[in-house]
Amino acid sequence: MIEINYQKCGYCGACVGVCEPMVLQLMENMVIVTNENKCKKCKACEVVCPLDAIKVKQ
Ligand code: SF4
Ligand code: SF4
Repeated sequence: MIEINYQKCGYCGACVGVCEPMVLQLMENMVIVTNENKCKKCKACEVVCPLDAIKVKQ
């Protein structure tokens, strides 16, 4: 499960850029989770986020 904390998120798109299976999308200044079932739980999005705004839970 992917949790985005919209209070913290700065909509930089960094997480979208590192997500190979394109689970995340930046849309109109909003990051959304599109294909959660394709998530590989690699945590690249979590690691790259400069604002600690995205968490990948098992
Ligand atoms: S854990 Fe990996 S596959 Fe899943 S959303 Fe983050 S970057 Fe994409
Ligand atoms: S990397 Fe973090 S701050 Fe940037 S869009 Fe993704 S969740 Fe938001």
